[in-house]
Amino acid sequence: MDKNTTGTPSAPPLLDIRGLRKTYRLPRGQTLKAVDGVSLSVTAGETLGLVGESGCGKSTLGRCMLRLTDISAGQVSFEGRDITRLRERTLRPLRPRMQMVFQDSHASLNPRRRIGDILAEPLRVHPDAAGRRRSAAVIYDRLHELMELVGLPATALERYAHEFSGGQRQRINIARALALSPRLVVADEPVSALDVSIQAQIVNLFADLRDQLGLTYVFVAHDLAVVRQISNRVAVMYLGAIVELGETDSVLHHPAHPYTAALTAAVPRPVVGASRAIALHGDVPSPVTRGTGCRFHTRCAYVQDRCRVEEPALRPVRPGHEAACHFPLAGD
Ligand code: SF4
Repeated sequence: MDKNTTGTPSAPPLLDIRGLRKTYRLPRGQTLKAVDGVSLSVTAGETLGLVGESGCGKSTLGRCMLRLTDISAGQVSFEGRDITRLRERTLRPLRPRMQMVFQDSHASLNPRRRIGDILAEPLRVHPDAAGRRRSAAVIYDRLHELMELVGLPATALERYAHEFSGGQRQRINIARALALSPRLVVADEPVSALDVSIQAQIVNLFADLRDQLGLTYVFVAHDLAVVRQISNRVAVMYLGAIVELGETDSVLHHPAHPYTAALTAAVPRPVVGASRAIALHGDVPSPVTRGTGCRFHTRCAYVQDRCRVEEPALRPVRPGHEAACHFPLAGD
């Protein structure tokens, strides 16, 4: 079994990843392992929260899921089809069904174009489900529909990105991601640049749209309180690998991996019910020079000799919950 293989949900997955690796060649023959052998499945209709500290590889994994970057090894399947090595031309008809919302709502909107023009672009570029080009009238109607979906007035279509607040710009980014009626949306830190009060509104919008449109999300975030608000399951990443995965309440209220336990204790708004306060010292080690053994052993309060030489695989700790630790916490 792959070292990061996770439990497979009962329904056929919309997205299935096996042994995914993304490496970068550095000068002097070094290799940076941004994603180091991840396997997981995402079922249609669910929201998988992907959490971890900055630099742990979660954004790179999100981009690999949608084939926005090449994959070094492993396999990505979407709707049951292996898309790992498809050329962009072959991927293009699938793009409408798999979309991304980026963190930086300002940088991702062209300041010189009206919002209506930005949102219309994917509708002009991609044909409809019957393979036909959309008419101007169809695009007009769709743009108004999108504004209503994300809670903005139709007059927003005539304005420019700088005229909006950060929260409003993120609503526009969500509208753009939804323009082609996707099934899967990977949201990469979509609220981390927003004020806390606005964060809650945008997360609620994501949840409402999921329920209304039957969307499936991979929700990348470093804030566990945000992830808890929207996710059915949570995958915790550390140094390129998933170290804990399971149903949200089980993982966040009863963490079995010391890293997750430390994260739940460290967030400014602690997760209610977090079982113990474990300090998280030091920085994430370099993914270039990582040694043997458990990838968390240099920071773990429970490290033992075995941890320094043997890498733990993900194993069940309770139903619907796995952790990669030789000595998992009881989580009570
Ligand atoms: Fe800590 Fe050892 Fe578990 Fe790694 S395997 S998280 S070092 S107790």
